[in-house]
Amino acid sequence: MLEYFNMLKLYNTLSKKKEFFRPRKRKKANLFVCGPTVYDFSHIGHARTYVVFDMITKYLRQKEYNVFYLQNITDIDDKILARAKKEKTDWRKLSRKFEKEYLKDMKALNINSVTKYAPATNYIKEIISQIEILLRKGFAYQIKDGVYYDVSKFKDYGKLSGRTTNQAEDALSRIDEAKEKRNKGDFCLWKTSKKGEPKWPSPFGSGRPGWHIEDTAIAEKYFGCQYDIHGGARDLIFPHHEAEIAQMEAKSGKKPLAKYWLHTGFLTVKNKKMAKSLGNFVTIRDFLKKHSPRALRLFILRTHYRSPIDYSEKEIKAVKKQLKRIDEFLEKLKEQETKNRKQGKETKNLILKTEKKFEKAMDDDFNTPLAMALIFNLITQGNKLFDKGKLTTADARNILKFLRKIDKIFNFIFLGKKTLPIPSSIKNLVKKREQARQEKNWELADQIRQKIKQRGYLIEDTRQGPKIKRI
Ligand SMILES: [Zn+2]
Repeated sequence: MLEYFNMLKLYNTLSKKKEFFRPRKRKKANLFVCGPTVYDFSHIGHARTYVVFDMITKYLRQKEYNVFYLQNITDIDDKILARAKKEKTDWRKLSRKFEKEYLKDMKALNINSVTKYAPATNYIKEIISQIEILLRKGFAYQIKDGVYYDVSKFKDYGKLSGRTTNQAEDALSRIDEAKEKRNKGDFCLWKTSKKGEPKWPSPFGSGRPGWHIEDTAIAEKYFGCQYDIHGGARDLIFPHHEAEIAQMEAKSGKKPLAKYWLHTGFLTVKNKKMAKSLGNFVTIRDFLKKHSPRALRLFILRTHYRSPIDYSEKEIKAVKKQLKRIDEFLEKLKEQETKNRKQGKETKNLILKTEKKFEKAMDDDFNTPLAMALIFNLITQGNKLFDKGKLTTADARNILKFLRKIDKIFNFIFLGKKTLPIPSSIKNLVKKREQARQEKNWELADQIRQKIKQRGYLIEDTRQGPKIKRI
């Protein structure tokens, strides 16, 4: 794989084109992805973003990049406070609860590539320090309501999203509202707390952090003021990521904050935006009550990460059909794996070709739909060879090896599958051996045992009868 390592291209939202991936330090890749605001269960739209960056991280690691994947968790926010108030519970209790639920969902989906989860309230000191410097440098100002960022002072404002400071207003959240603001698009860095609201002491009065400043404070703590990749859902480009750039580049005087900006496309339900009010809100938890984690991963990864995905039961049915096809093929491979025959030339070429094309597809801005097509083509060709009796033991082993390797990135081929069934040919041999034993033909029984062993299985004689195990 090494010879291709420098061929990887990614689409950079900042330059609006595909660029070769050249991290700041040769084989080190620092990646920051915006995490959840923990006030409710995560939905399948969130799952999309996190499955995608899990896949990307795993692919980079397979290409021998040393990836530090950092993700913040927004555990203080207007939405959390509102929900806690509504449920008459402590905001801290509520956010801890949903942080745990979020991590449970991630575990269920085998999203295990994150190096560090960083809850915002653990970084208040770092947040205050960034705000102090922005105030000192004149990019921020203090009013009764808190500390605000003056977007007119940062001349690069809008370079990621292509929007102007005046277009900002409608995208800002409640925390950014203040009558005394200098410009419409100015956003809040520190909010003076009202009575009963959580607060932390600071040189600019007791209050709580704004949303955008969390990410830059956390990222700077681990990566310094510049790093390789910033990722997130598409709807975060403005104002959130624009604000991050404004904060960090103004503070450090260095640009760019992140060299590559990657954004995932929207996920709609029957062509409508997912919303609680529309009753089409699908949480990860609810999805997993009906379907497997591998179904969700395949559903997400069979579309390119930047393209929109539309969710419907029909789509999931199609995904399940694909999974069935994979499973049937795996069973054939398992069956074949136990017979001792040499590798045929045809399969060797097939695997080599597939492997090369696979890497080329993935290197092209993670073209997973093309990678899927290659997997299914391999299955079609493999099935044909199997039917012709040309699929040998070595072929089966090599295909399985290849599938295991790519599934370290995708996790929908083998994920959650219990050990594969014992092939019927092995079961038949075990029956024959039992018969020989009953007939006290110890020599034949032993011969059969050897044969079974050669095919990769061990027999253990127990009181309940023989038990078969893979070696
Ligand atoms: Zn963020």
